[in-house]
Amino acid sequence: MSVQVGMVHLVGAGPGDPSLLTLKAVELLQKADAVVYDKLAGWSFLTHIQPQTRLYDVGKQADRHTMVQEEICQLLVDLAREGLQVVRLKGGDPYVFGRGGEEAEVLVAAEIPFQVVPGISSSVAVPGAAGIPVTHRDHCTSFHVITGHERPDREETALDFSAFAKLSGTLVFLMGIRNLSHITQSLLREGKDPLTPVAIVEKGCTPYQRHITGNLTNIVDLVEKHSIQAPAVTVVGTVVDLSSKLYQTPSDQPLRAQRILVGRTRRQASRFSNLLRSQGAIPIEVPLIEVELNADPIAGSAFLEKLSLCQWLVFTSENGVESFVQLLRQQKRDVRTLHSLRIASIGPATTQALLQYGIHADLQPQIYTVEALGQELLKVIQPKQSIALARSDVANPELQRRLQSMNVDLVEWDAYYTRPALRQAELLKSLLFQAEVDWIPFSSSSMVHAFCDAVLDDHISTWNVRFASIGPMTSAAMQSRGLLVSAEAKVQTLDGLIVAIQEAL
Ligand code: SAH
Repeated sequence: MSVQVGMVHLVGAGPGDPSLLTLKAVELLQKADAVVYDKLAGWSFLTHIQPQTRLYDVGKQADRHTMVQEEICQLLVDLAREGLQVVRLKGGDPYVFGRGGEEAEVLVAAEIPFQVVPGISSSVAVPGAAGIPVTHRDHCTSFHVITGHERPDREETALDFSAFAKLSGTLVFLMGIRNLSHITQSLLREGKDPLTPVAIVEKGCTPYQRHITGNLTNIVDLVEKHSIQAPAVTVVGTVVDLSSKLYQTPSDQPLRAQRILVGRTRRQASRFSNLLRSQGAIPIEVPLIEVELNADPIAGSAFLEKLSLCQWLVFTSENGVESFVQLLRQQKRDVRTLHSLRIASIGPATTQALLQYGIHADLQPQIYTVEALGQELLKVIQPKQSIALARSDVANPELQRRLQSMNVDLVEWDAYYTRPALRQAELLKSLLFQAEVDWIPFSSSSMVHAFCDAVLDDHISTWNVRFASIGPMTSAAMQSRGLLVSAEAKVQTLDGLIVAIQEAL
């Protein structure tokens, strides 16, 4: 029996802003068995993949090839022949200087089904983000996208600067920053007006975006003066003048360009990532822990039975709530099960999760720790009452300890199991070793241990990364593993964690 051949999707990731991925790209990433990416694609795709998706970094930089093009093509063919759905993710549009055409030819020759999914090309979007429309009726009637980096195996230049110099349209050079002097000299030699405006836009559509403007005679010096680096787009033409009028300065963002690892479970990551993005940060989602809801029907039905004799039901996390609601469904029960119970919640996120199911929490402490929750409960419960706890298998025993001091009957249920998510350990290590991460916030002790186990505590001092903690328990776990706590949340919520990072900048 022959193995079913998979399919390769040549997908454009857009210029860098995660919200400029197409809906189709997101849909394919969600279903991908493997993603083959390079640096220009950015890290936002991690938000959309499944935990088991295989990742291949084939990143190329101007002078450091991690994988040659033939090897990349071979990898695509091999993965498809394994029967996988493969997303080949490329910055911008796959058919604009991305060698997407070459990859497509190889796939056709190997009889691998493929499709191309367009992306927003930097050639248009990046000038636009710097306030430069590539066409404008008062300025030009065409724009031309030109490579600034020719094939190294070509002896004579294929770039016809005499033709470019005669064009009245906007010239957009990609990959041109290292050859800028050659480009400007050639245009001047061929008679282009020395005062023709030129803009360089570095890392457009990302929180690092910068641009400078000048003309054909001074732009090289300006690039040097401002240490402009690749990737950058060079725009030549009078439309550049519009930038001073049309460029919109981004609003003040306290976490601008901070690269922050989001290690929460895939289900819980997006809320934190969205909060970070709204402050200008770049979230990089690599789950450190996985949560498995307890679906054991025997333990579940025993818990529900005992629950009918309890006075309080206590939740210490959103996962606990999710798992309890799943249990009700599994046992063909609903919220009426709770009719005689009072409900306690550890903090706002758990309270919110309950509210989503129409359940109002009767008690929530002012400080969102198990100690504070225990203290508040002790004020309202009577001796000999029965208290039910739906919490993690590795929950802090402090809550039980406090409640037991009052001679109450505890009914406990392991609502979910927390395990380290080691599938992306390699990615995690390479991010750290390449200094791609500025902050790692931990929102639980289990996350700290999973992280340290995954990276084997190697060379922490060389990573250039800072660690933040959601509260004292997590900080203690960090210290026990030798991690320096650079920021600790005063309020034990994700917002509190973000404030702590801001204050530590
Ligand atoms: N397929 C891509 C282009 C690949 S060539 C696209 O359609 O955008 C790589 C070049 O694209 C870089 O050298 C740089 O000139 C340009 N580029 C891509 N993303 C960019 C960004 N966010 N900011 C500035 N230039 C970018």
